[in-house]
Amino acid sequence: MKLETHHRGSKTLIRVLTPGDRINAALAVVEDQEGTGVLLQLYNLPEESEVPADYTLYPGRVGILKEPFFKATSAGAYSLRVDHVNDIVWLAPEDEKIPARWRQRLRAPNDSFKARMDGNKAIGTNQWAKAESLYSSAIDAARSLEESRLAHLNRSLANLRLGRCETALSDATKSAPDDEPHESENLSLREKRLFREAKALYAMDKYQECVGRLTVMTKEFPDNNAVKPELGRAQARLREQQTGAFSFRNMYKEAAVEPPVVDCATFTGPVEIRPSPGRGRGSFTTSAVKAGDLLICEKAFSYCFAGEPQLGGGGKSMTLVDMDSNYITIGTQARLISQIVQNLSHNPESSKKFLDLHHGGYQAVSADGVDGRPVVDSFLVTKTILANSFGAPRTSRDSFRSLVLDFANEEKAVASHQTTGVWIMASYLNHSCVGNCCRSFIGDMQIIRATRDMPANTELMFPYQAEKRLVSYDETQKKLQNWGFRCECALCLEKKATTEGTLKKRKGLIGKLKFIMGRSQDPYEIDTKRALAALDEFEATYATPVRTYPSAATDPTGSVDLSTAQITPRLDLWDAYIGLGGVLLNTDKNAEAVRVTVKGLEALGFVVVAPPPPLGDGEKKKNRKKKKKKKTANSNTASTSNGGAGADQLMVKSWGMAATSPDLAQRAREYAATAYSMLVGEKETASDELAELR
Ligand SMILES: [Zn+2]
Repeated sequence: MKLETHHRGSKTLIRVLTPGDRINAALAVVEDQEGTGVLLQLYNLPEESEVPADYTLYPGRVGILKEPFFKATSAGAYSLRVDHVNDIVWLAPEDEKIPARWRQRLRAPNDSFKARMDGNKAIGTNQWAKAESLYSSAIDAARSLEESRLAHLNRSLANLRLGRCETALSDATKSAPDDEPHESENLSLREKRLFREAKALYAMDKYQECVGRLTVMTKEFPDNNAVKPELGRAQARLREQQTGAFSFRNMYKEAAVEPPVVDCATFTGPVEIRPSPGRGRGSFTTSAVKAGDLLICEKAFSYCFAGEPQLGGGGKSMTLVDMDSNYITIGTQARLISQIVQNLSHNPESSKKFLDLHHGGYQAVSADGVDGRPVVDSFLVTKTILANSFGAPRTSRDSFRSLVLDFANEEKAVASHQTTGVWIMASYLNHSCVGNCCRSFIGDMQIIRATRDMPANTELMFPYQAEKRLVSYDETQKKLQNWGFRCECALCLEKKATTEGTLKKRKGLIGKLKFIMGRSQDPYEIDTKRALAALDEFEATYATPVRTYPSAATDPTGSVDLSTAQITPRLDLWDAYIGLGGVLLNTDKNAEAVRVTVKGLEALGFVVVAPPPPLGDGEKKKNRKKKKKKKTANSNTASTSNGGAGADQLMVKSWGMAATSPDLAQRAREYAATAYSMLVGEKETASDELAELR
């Protein structure tokens, strides 16, 4: 064999000589038929705590290794490296492919009954992988259908516990007699079978079928106390899947436990995947949606939680090296790879959708399954993860607290996300710096809500990265290179048109503003006139206004069709406006505070329809009529940054104090709750976080 080469198409027979051990990979010395010994390294196996290496690699075990990859180790020795778990097909002891002289040395064929009893003992001590292997021996050694069925039924339990729900389901089903409707089935075995099938179906998100099995059980086995709670759980999932009605408070409770994996179904709202010209595929609305509407609430396909950043440092460490790209993957991403490889190998049906995701043009190994087992190309898995995994906070509510309420640095907060996951539906959303929806997280659930009103057939987009201030077009595109595209959104086009001189001027003005605003802790000592003048000067550096409407959209009553507004947010400016708004508010210049805060919201891309409150008491009456008319106006928001809700909170404060109409203040409160739900994922806890909403 040649070094550092995949021997595509070739196969070799190997026999394990030493018990398996583990250092990153599972290791053992193996020999070929000529007696040449070499180190075998098996990557992407389940973790040692789940399946110890010596269950897979034990002396005397014989397997066929496909497409062997021979490589030099760092110590200068040679080894056989196996990344694709199914590249080794282990042979049953009596398999005729095993050469006679190797077969003699193997253990005598198992007694099926004894193997099954040993399996039960392993179950008793929670050794699921060992039990699985013993039950497999029991199946191989079975001399009657009865023995085979019993071993299958028991193996279904071990597979359930190992997270191999598809095999668990097929095992359970195989334990039933062939006659329909299984009249000859032993009642106690039937009870176990139905329950295990229900459990497997639940794990496969097949809630309707799961409810079906459990409903049968409530009739046939009314005394089984485990059935009712399971049925309740499955019905709740079915409801979530069909209607999107979630208990977010429950989600938080479950996400508070480690790992923060939430028991919830995936809900897909009025959204579908379609080709997106120039972008491969994208996600589109299938009907009109309102700002704040729930579009997708998705359970992660795969999720790795690294622990709290401040406690674990690097989190659970694991290193994988991708031979093709020399890319070293550490920590949670490496765990994600091995998790997904396992999933593809054991739950091929439910994980098919992962293989459909974009994987950056990598040429996948042709899928020729051996012995009915799928071929898992772990290099493809790595490439797909690189293109589709997201770092996520434990909950977006936590990030909201630190970012919006404590004004922490957004970039730093994002960098500290050590939790990684893959969400299939969400992966189809393309990038735009000016998004029309926002994603948030509660544990392994990703929640996507509309951030503006949209007609049907709108492509959903959100920014893939936190927006950096005062950066050039080239700098922005450089950061997007990971995903292999250039962004041509309104914001990027504006940057493209901005000269270096203008950018420099803006940086200077931001410095000036910081200086003015930082002069004193006492708001009365801040020169708000000078700050406003600097902001006006900044505004004047833009060639286009924040928003434009096609002229035809204006109707005779003066109201405009907001969904036609074209928005070019000023992300460099919003917080300066909001900050100044706060100073004005604290110096009792309420009307001016609202005017400036509205500018801040507009800089974020919000369209604020309600007019600012009157400047003096004398004008109150005149304006009241106008405001009532605006009651029917809709809010149309496009938040592109996490500053949105903080800004809205201030809006509520301003309006609550300055508005002459309580109705208007109430509407501002509703907007604040909606903005909160876009950032955090739900409205249920809005009043817990925002005192103004209580
Ligand atoms: Zn852009």
